[in-house]
Amino acid sequence: MKTWLFGLQQQLSRQIHENKLPHALLFSGVDGAGQEEIAHWLINVLLCQDLTQDLPQNRPPEKEENLSPVSQVSPVSQVSEETTNVQPFIFQPCGYCKTCKLSANGSYPDHLTIVNDKNTIGVDAIRKLSQFFEKTAHIGIAKTALVNHADTMTVSAANALLKTLEEPTSQSFIMLTTHSSDVLLPTIISRCQKFEIRPPVGKKLLAEYKKQDNDAFVNLSHLSELTDEATAVAFTVFRDKVKDYLCAHQHRAEILTLLVERHDSFRWLEKILVNLMRNQWGWPTAGHDNQQASVINKQQLWQVYNLVQAANIKLKTLVQVNRQFLSEKLLADISLVVEQKNQ
Ligand SMILES: [Zn+2]
Repeated sequence: MKTWLFGLQQQLSRQIHENKLPHALLFSGVDGAGQEEIAHWLINVLLCQDLTQDLPQNRPPEKEENLSPVSQVSPVSQVSEETTNVQPFIFQPCGYCKTCKLSANGSYPDHLTIVNDKNTIGVDAIRKLSQFFEKTAHIGIAKTALVNHADTMTVSAANALLKTLEEPTSQSFIMLTTHSSDVLLPTIISRCQKFEIRPPVGKKLLAEYKKQDNDAFVNLSHLSELTDEATAVAFTVFRDKVKDYLCAHQHRAEILTLLVERHDSFRWLEKILVNLMRNQWGWPTAGHDNQQASVINKQQLWQVYNLVQAANIKLKTLVQVNRQFLSEKLLADISLVVEQKNQ
């Protein structure tokens, strides 16, 4: 578990202990902040029949500055004053009881995870979730559901979810995770207790991963690349393809597929261009992008960057944007800019 999640684990453990855990919880944060990790932990805690308590001496001190539950958006999120003197503790699932074992191999019958199919969560998936909560629990401890990437719900899916959020059944818990809660319907947000996970930045973040890298520009946009080796490799592969595309118009189909299918690819593209520009201007770069995209000049690079930035804004602000169309249009626009050099 990431150390910046300990404070949140303590708060949620206290809420469970006091029977004050709300029916719906929303965990948001940048990619890699740990929203899915905390949701999985919470689900396992709710299902376990033999919880254990971690004492605070086993843990680094609570890092309150990294946790900001947005309590004003939800009426159920206040933690009562008299509990502030209680020693902090963190519940942990035992890992050995029947339900822990069922959960570990993915066969616990009273839990449902909704995954986004083809980049969106449709209304059918949410209807399945509603039906799941209407049925009686098999084991009868708690019913839990997890909606990952809740921001990818279609409008009709979000409206269907609202109904379920409004009519909670007892001992049922819905967890939503997202990396961009600003895309979610405000009516959804207002029915959840919202937790904004804020990992440390800069040197603290590097210390967290014991990286000796002297990278002054490390920030949260690098988090998923830092925390996950596979993501780091995918980023490097993508970066090299983008450079080839800018210089020699190669890999169009592969880049298009990545833009459509990888939700972080637009952000990556922006980051790659920023690094290329820093490089061209002779400024220190965040990555190790020492190869120049030398065929493309400063002005073209700046134009490409603006195109990418505009596409990124569209992606973030428009509901139900056609990602395929947006990606194709962006690559076509970039080609136009790059081809100017031949004129
Ligand atoms: Zn257990």
